[in-house]
Amino acid sequence: MMEASPALRPGSPTFHRLSEGVKHVEISGKTLLIPEMAPFASHLLAACFRALGTNAVVMDTYKGLSLGREFTSGKECFPCQVTLGDILHHLQKEKEHWGTAFDPARYVYFLPEADGPCRFGMYNKLQRLVLDRFETFKEVPIVYISTQNGYSTEGLMPPEKASTLRRLSYVSVILADVMDRTVWRVRPYEWRTGMTDAFMEQALQAMAALIERVGAGLELHRLYALLEDIVATAASFIDPHQPRRPRIGIVGEIYLRSHPDSNQNIVRQLERFGGEVVDASIGEWVNFITFVRARKLQRQWKLAWRSRDHKLLRQIFRQWMANRIESIYQSWRQNQVYRLALKHLDIEPDHSVSALERRLEGGRLFNFDIGTEAALSIGGALEHVHHGFDGIVNVFPFTCMPSTICAAVLKPLLDQRKIPYLDAPYDGAIQPNREVALRTFVYQAGQHLASRRAGQTLRH
Ligand code: SF4
Repeated sequence: MMEASPALRPGSPTFHRLSEGVKHVEISGKTLLIPEMAPFASHLLAACFRALGTNAVVMDTYKGLSLGREFTSGKECFPCQVTLGDILHHLQKEKEHWGTAFDPARYVYFLPEADGPCRFGMYNKLQRLVLDRFETFKEVPIVYISTQNGYSTEGLMPPEKASTLRRLSYVSVILADVMDRTVWRVRPYEWRTGMTDAFMEQALQAMAALIERVGAGLELHRLYALLEDIVATAASFIDPHQPRRPRIGIVGEIYLRSHPDSNQNIVRQLERFGGEVVDASIGEWVNFITFVRARKLQRQWKLAWRSRDHKLLRQIFRQWMANRIESIYQSWRQNQVYRLALKHLDIEPDHSVSALERRLEGGRLFNFDIGTEAALSIGGALEHVHHGFDGIVNVFPFTCMPSTICAAVLKPLLDQRKIPYLDAPYDGAIQPNREVALRTFVYQAGQHLASRRAGQTLRH
């Protein structure tokens, strides 16, 4: 067995930094630095923090990639390099701006984590070690929320505010999902090139400003009214004379599929070649965390029951109830927001995680107990197929473990069902054949759409 490096042995100063420098700290009065992932969701999340009195900013993204690469070995997952580059670039700019007045204690770096079994749980630890190599950045704490406790926001701010933040940020994520889906439904058919993007950029600013104003009071009806206006206006941009395109579903690793710079703008590329795209939502991931936590608590309950540990049983039951309430709240809010948007535009509705579990045929095709988001991507792809999509793209960081599993399972399954399928791994390099692969894929999806339509005509 490989010996741990002395610097990382429990009790060593470096090991100590992993718990001391990566923690749940009170963020009130600090500048919270958020790395950009899905643009709408990241900016609305920052607005939620601002609504509750924390000055949150979304950092410029992808500009520091060379720094991210310089301070990693090349074995890390690509999202880790990108986000490390973002924080180093941002802090460096701040330092240049403030000069001797630069105060690292003013900032808190926000980097959520998942409890594996892959490497996402280690990003913030590795980034701590890198920041510690800079005398001036050592004092910048990394704050995280974790899937271990269902992304609890306790400890980040006073309890009443933390609870508001939790509800507000969930609704904001769903608003962002709906805004994304509005763009994807409208942009391929717009009257004038660029009008959807220009309008949605303004819409994002307006939504963020409104969240800041009314978010603390949870005046959700005002956010909903603005969303309805946005969706109704965007719907009017569709040129009804343009024929419906083949629909392409994107699944895969959450960061890569949501971060346009890292995936080299795959949604726009697919649209450019003639597709209409629906990417998996961010809400899906949040619901997945709640879903997985319920399963974990059920397993713990069974173990506690076998050992007749009544104290533990009561504790697990309380946690299970809180998680159940969270789950009900999430599905209620999600349905509410989608219903409002669907009054104006036929965006793709989102699915529940239980629906994806059914698509996996009770664990016959894959099982949520295996962990990671592979089950989500496989189930999501099959759900898209069930809803008449004409092609599936699996977007992921090169060497990503769950996505490689997903590719191995999905490829033969979709082949059997004659659905075009494409793996799209990214590591920041420009692949010369990528464009040809995407173009060919969209052509195949178009053929699939044509044969589906011909089949429907024959049946009638
Ligand atoms: S999901 Fe993939 S990219 Fe993310 S940490 Fe795990 S292996 Fe790395």
